[in-house]
Amino acid sequence: MAVKKIVMFPNEVLERSCETVTVFDKKLTKLLNDMYDTMIAFDGVGLAAPQIGIGKRIAVVDIDDEMGTIELINPILLSFSGEQIGPEGCLSFPGLYGEVNRPFSIKVQAQNRRGKTFIMEAEDFLARAILHEMDHLDGVLFTSKVIRYLEEEELEGVES
Ligand SMILES: [Zn+2]
Repeated sequence: MAVKKIVMFPNEVLERSCETVTVFDKKLTKLLNDMYDTMIAFDGVGLAAPQIGIGKRIAVVDIDDEMGTIELINPILLSFSGEQIGPEGCLSFPGLYGEVNRPFSIKVQAQNRRGKTFIMEAEDFLARAILHEMDHLDGVLFTSKVIRYLEEEELEGVES
């Protein structure tokens, strides 16, 4: 188990577009495992590689549902529909929460840790979590999309 330090805003690595992953080796496997450990240790529902200082197009998402842990390498948004407005937080912005408008349903193509391409669909909170992490890979932070910041008393039951 290797829990990494979370990069906090502001930091240049959080605001630049990440590089495509081309090598699927043991190092990548270790990075994914470390990202998972770090996400769980900090009680997050997702983590993008730049959040541990690695400027590569890798994200992990786990909203504690039947989908389990989703590993997204070089993810591409193929299509989206609908919309949802809901609260979001980010491990790189401790204590900050705001409402963000996102598509309700998405179809995403990505590669797994062995480099195999897969397509998945997600909706509702899972779609939100995936889109939040995918934004990180383009250096886009949720604060640029917040419609309204939330006060502490509005945060009952909100996951980051
Ligand atoms: Zn985030």
